[in-house]
Amino acid sequence: AVVVRRQMRKSGRWAKAMAIVKELEDKCGTPITRLRSVADSMTVEMHAGLASEGGSKLKMIISFVDNLPTGDEQGLFYALDLGGTNFRVLRVHLGGKGKGVVKQEFEEVSIPPHLMTGTSDALFDYIAEALAKFVATEDEGSHPFPGRERELGFTFSFPVRQTSIASGTLIKWTKGFSIEDAVGEDVVAELTKALKRVGLDMRVNALVNDTIGTLAGGRYYNPDVIAAVILGTGTNAAYVERATAIPKWQGPLPKSGEMVINMEWGNFRSSHLPLTEYDQALDAESLNPGEQILEKIISGMYLGEILRRVLLRMAEEAAFFGDTVPAKLKIPFILRTPDMSAMHHDTSPELKVVGKKLQDILEISNTSLKVRKVIIKLCDIVATRGARLSAAGILGILKKLERDNISSNGSQKSVIALDGGLFEHYTKFSSCMESTLKELLGGEVADKIVIEHSNDGSGIGAALLAASHSPYLDASEP
Ligand code: BGC
Ligand code: MG
Repeated sequence: AVVVRRQMRKSGRWAKAMAIVKELEDKCGTPITRLRSVADSMTVEMHAGLASEGGSKLKMIISFVDNLPTGDEQGLFYALDLGGTNFRVLRVHLGGKGKGVVKQEFEEVSIPPHLMTGTSDALFDYIAEALAKFVATEDEGSHPFPGRERELGFTFSFPVRQTSIASGTLIKWTKGFSIEDAVGEDVVAELTKALKRVGLDMRVNALVNDTIGTLAGGRYYNPDVIAAVILGTGTNAAYVERATAIPKWQGPLPKSGEMVINMEWGNFRSSHLPLTEYDQALDAESLNPGEQILEKIISGMYLGEILRRVLLRMAEEAAFFGDTVPAKLKIPFILRTPDMSAMHHDTSPELKVVGKKLQDILEISNTSLKVRKVIIKLCDIVATRGARLSAAGILGILKKLERDNISSNGSQKSVIALDGGLFEHYTKFSSCMESTLKELLGGEVADKIVIEHSNDGSGIGAALLAASHSPYLDASEP
């Protein structure tokens, strides 16, 4: 009788666990009709954000980039790419007309976590020092103008109220950064002061978001690039807008008639978004409650954390991992998206990778195959929601540009440059995103829309924009 009772209790727990899975699956559902509503509301918010400052959750930031690279850019330029857990410094030698990138060198430096929540000076000093070291490795004689300052494109991947091509104030931090005294400051001024402090003679020609850099880098190689999307630690999109379609733009109409817009779509939210209790709790306990809601259900910083929260509830309410709740499972952000991705892609018959990750990260041993299968299912639910919503966001942009249907679009090809670790490394995520976009667009149009991986385009893009915004363009001698 005791055995039977224990068995019953066991099957009761399993049923409870499965009920939690089922509930998650229902709440994360993204049927096509819902995705279409998300896309429509994205388009509506784009209009609102372009109409007036503060008119929408979408900031639709005017980037001051009204000319994208042509291929004529020439010279030696630096770029600094800051926006995630690492930053990169680049040196790019542009050959000019038809010659492309002649040489490109870069170094990646990780940001010590304490600098992500410290002071502005501490962060910028650290970056400036790394940049100075990198500049010191420059080949003798490769800087063609001795005595003239070196020139830099600064990719800064946070929401910035741009005041010119080379200045802008930080609106807020995202993605785990929280440095109070930098908010409201001109980030170029902050960087420039730090460069002075380390004795590096360098000027910032362009300040760009990573989406803008990726768009510029993508356009350099392919003239059909019209938008860029980042799916990485955070998420965002930028696209080329007609200047006359930006009512809030007060300045003179650019000669090109175009202006690149940084949407900051990570901050999108809508009643159509499928949100769960886990998302609500994650948001409430985050560094930026109420902000970046789309980002919190799509991007790499959060997917693993959502999974952890579901597993914790299953451990607590359904004894999913046995009688005790694994202590490690209570640690926020312990389960990273790359680990989730590794589990999700596990094809070994015993699901060995899942078993090993549970052991190594959460110290949960001897999981059954049945339990491991459930974990893969959870990965799938969480990743699929993010991927399908990303596709809906892209559809929103295509709708705004009237490139979502054959009648207005004709035979015009539209290329979207994609980058970011989530897109690059989480294969099931990116293939789901791409197939969903096809599904949303339907046959004929789908063939005209191309997703292109722009590998590290944001750094190169910044260097290209530094080149096209050089004050020395007309005067080749200092
Ligand atoms: C930032 C954007 C950035 C995106 C991708 C978001 O958190 O707000 O500015 O483009 O992450 O890096
Ligand atoms: Mg890359």
